[in-house]
Amino acid sequence: MGDVDAAVARAGAAFESWRRVAPGDRARLLRRFAAQVDAHLEELARLEVRNAGHTIGNARWEAGNVRDVLDYYAGAPERLTGHQIPVPGGLDVTFHEPLGVVGVIVPWNFPMPIAGWGFAPALAAGNTVVLKPAELTPLTALRLAELARDAGLPDGVFTVLPGRGSVVGERFVTHPAVRKICFTGSTEVGTRIMAGCATQVKRVTLELGGKSANIVFADADLEKAAATAPYAVFDNAGQDCCARSRILVQRQVYDRFLELLEPAVRALRVEDPARETAEMGPLISAAHRDRVAGYVDGADVAFTGSCPDGPGFWCAPTVLLAGSPADRHWREEVFGPVVSVLPFDDEADAIRLANDTEYGLSGSIWTRDVGRAVRVARAVESGNLSVNSHSSVRYWTPFGGMKRSGLGRELGPDALHAFTDVKNVFIGTEE
Ligand code: NAD
Repeated sequence: MGDVDAAVARAGAAFESWRRVAPGDRARLLRRFAAQVDAHLEELARLEVRNAGHTIGNARWEAGNVRDVLDYYAGAPERLTGHQIPVPGGLDVTFHEPLGVVGVIVPWNFPMPIAGWGFAPALAAGNTVVLKPAELTPLTALRLAELARDAGLPDGVFTVLPGRGSVVGERFVTHPAVRKICFTGSTEVGTRIMAGCATQVKRVTLELGGKSANIVFADADLEKAAATAPYAVFDNAGQDCCARSRILVQRQVYDRFLELLEPAVRALRVEDPARETAEMGPLISAAHRDRVAGYVDGADVAFTGSCPDGPGFWCAPTVLLAGSPADRHWREEVFGPVVSVLPFDDEADAIRLANDTEYGLSGSIWTRDVGRAVRVARAVESGNLSVNSHSSVRYWTPFGGMKRSGLGRELGPDALHAFTDVKNVFIGTEE
């Protein structure tokens, strides 16, 4: 805890000068940081394969995402404009003031992108950052801190502090000089963090769990819906908060959809994640593999894909048939390569089933009827929906959850404002 306090003190001291760096210079430093990440992209990707078991293809995308997010928010310092509001008796202007030291707490499933979604806009807005990676996956975050230093970011502006959640993470929450927590992780821990922040009215953004629905209507392009469904849930071995882990299929095409889904699941290449051809790697740990297996034991397994024997925390992609929405695997976030399928009758039934969850992070809607696509997209209580696609995260657009999936939004043009407070200044002009 002493180390955390010392790092926060350094970050607090650095804030006083970082907030005064001219916007153009701050932008230039962030672009240099992005260039450093780009120059070390392959190294970062390989490090993530070794540390987290991500496929090399995914890991390259993840390192590239850090670069892109830095470049995107490098455009922000020079555009962080306020308002000039017409009022009687003077001039009224608003400023977006940085908060101070921001604590970013990152989970193990996407160590690089999730770190970047926090630190890039926070730094761009003029804050300094202390970042805690997950216990199991500290390596790429530590390397990113070195690259930031090599890019010329001043000491104390961006500090990575590996350590236990209950020690380092908790201290971010209780330390009065940490003015905002940007947390991604489980709903359970996020709920505690929000309660902890409340005592200091500390700003908080929460990106939490999910149990997203993939809704397939009878009029959809069933071939495409079935061919893409495995990637929408088994990517990163299902360790994805946006995983479409509940597939709802309209009853009249339910059997046909499963017939099409089976070969797509069997064809998924689950192998050594360092291989260029790998589409899915192992799970993060033995304990997590056991937890995931607990959802499959005793469930109605429709079919599975394959996975290697031998060392590694392997788990084959698994399709379960839900007997009813009460099934545990239908309700709880499995966070592994397990998907549950359930038929529905009509549009109203699909919406009711999709919303019958405490979560609301993402989801997909497959239909050729534009009116229905819009109606259902408006009715499903989720922060990120895609129609005839499974896209969730694009750094240009806001990302975050409704209900117990989170609070606030990351990415996109408005994320910067989550790292600032609006200050209103009135200047009297009366003689
Ligand atoms: P977790 O909540 O166990 O841990 C997340 C981070 O919080 C880790 O760095 C951990 O060390 C830290 N932490 C743990 N206890 C803490 C405490 N008391 N105080 C402060 N920090 C503490 O989550 P996880 O198992 O690492 O990640 C999986 C979860 O993250 C899943 O539920 C997943 O859905 C969610 N997730 C959400 C998003 C999103 O954007 N919505 C993205 C990725 C993951």
